[in-house]
Amino acid sequence: MTNFDYDLFVIGAGSGGVRAARIAATHGARVGIAEEFRYGGTCVIRGCVPKKLFVYASKFTEEFANADGYGWSLNGTPTFDFDKLIENKDKEITRLEGIYRRNLDKSGVELHDSRAVIEGPNTVRLLSTDQVITAERILVAVGATPNVDAGLVGCEHTITSNEAFHLSEFPKRTIVVGGGYIAVEFAGIFNGMGSETTLVYRGEEILRGFDMDLRTGLHEQMEEKGITVKTKSTIASIEKHEGGLTVTTHAGEVIEADQVLYAIGRRPNTAGLGLEEAGVELDKAGAVVVTPQSQSSVPSIFAVGDVTNRANLTPVAIREGHAFADSTYGGKEWHVDHSMIPTAVFSQPEIGTVGLTQEEAEARFDNIDIYTSSFRPMKNTLSGKPGKMFLKMLVDADTDKILGIHIMGPDSGELIQIIGVTLTMGATKADYDRTIAVHPTAAEELVTMR
Ligand code: NDP
Repeated sequence: MTNFDYDLFVIGAGSGGVRAARIAATHGARVGIAEEFRYGGTCVIRGCVPKKLFVYASKFTEEFANADGYGWSLNGTPTFDFDKLIENKDKEITRLEGIYRRNLDKSGVELHDSRAVIEGPNTVRLLSTDQVITAERILVAVGATPNVDAGLVGCEHTITSNEAFHLSEFPKRTIVVGGGYIAVEFAGIFNGMGSETTLVYRGEEILRGFDMDLRTGLHEQMEEKGITVKTKSTIASIEKHEGGLTVTTHAGEVIEADQVLYAIGRRPNTAGLGLEEAGVELDKAGAVVVTPQSQSSVPSIFAVGDVTNRANLTPVAIREGHAFADSTYGGKEWHVDHSMIPTAVFSQPEIGTVGLTQEEAEARFDNIDIYTSSFRPMKNTLSGKPGKMFLKMLVDADTDKILGIHIMGPDSGELIQIIGVTLTMGATKADYDRTIAVHPTAAEELVTMR
């Protein structure tokens, strides 16, 4: 027993903070948590979960178009009620938030609905009550927030993913700015829901950092689905008028839109948190600098999740929180290996990727074998819809070890989870070759690649 109010005080009840709090409490620690907005954090409240619900909603257009080839006729044109989607999504998010609160409570964690700021290595102030709390350790799990282009003329007319989940009116014409995860996902969402969608990206090709075949393949298929993709393009100004927004690019092109969604990266939520004053080192981007054990430069202050800008993904934050709690309170020391992270982009088509890209593999290994397969998914045959499934496997020819797998097409997110298990185990091409195919599936291509 220490003289502190808590053994652990967690700031931020998102994926990483909640996991750490619950596991630490399960190990017997006295834990408090503060959340200034809603329990569940970015992923549950305004990220992965509502995004996936929106993706599902947007895919019905394609399902309706596919149905005819299979003998179904939809009498009349299907109509889309955006308000109903928002209402149902909000109910689901509220339900999930309730689960998060209850689970914390059941684990014995004390909840504080307040913004908390750090006042010292062991001290936190709750701003809603001005209460000062002491804790042996503090865990910072405050996440990140969308960047805006503050210097842009007309920046006040733009929205970010935060607002995209709460629009009072469905935009008939949407511009999405950026070429990362969020931009390509929202471009697919708005296009699928029937908005005339333009993606504006400053670089040569969308999804920088991904395997080039996926980048060019997704670009091509997004255009096939009706999205206008403008690369090497940046926005100079946005003007609001009665009929909507007039967007002018630096090249002088004018695009009319109802909403302009900026998805240009996210920044750690460290401003005004008292971290630097307490001696916590931040990097240039404002992220908390941590050891592999998630410890900051102040020994009693730890940080997990997006605020550390390691791999900004929910499951990674959860693991980091779990590892911290087990190591500190459970007598089981471990830390997260960030080197092999399977991930999905819920673009349309979907992407799944794990391991090295071809560009990375070629730079690091002398001999790599590249296996690819590209075909029309079976479901599209009767409907005559365009769209290809693409799979790529990169193998170190000297050891037969698989270095990376990259796939694009239906259910790639589901597939890459299991593929990730095999790569984490150190799978070789021979392991895949001796695995019997499951037929007819798209995934069977992976065990029949020659
Ligand atoms: P990303 O970092 O993935 O992409 C940012 C994009 O914005 C890049 O294309 C970048 O271009 C561009 N950009 C950056 N600054 C500017 C600027 N000033 N003007 C114009 N374009 C700019 O960020 P996101 O916002 O898409 O997503 C944030 C993070 O959230 C991701 O890194 C991911 O980890 C996570 N996420 C994960 C999801 C998933 O797992 N499915 C879904 C959504 C988010 P350039 O390439 O030239 O730098």
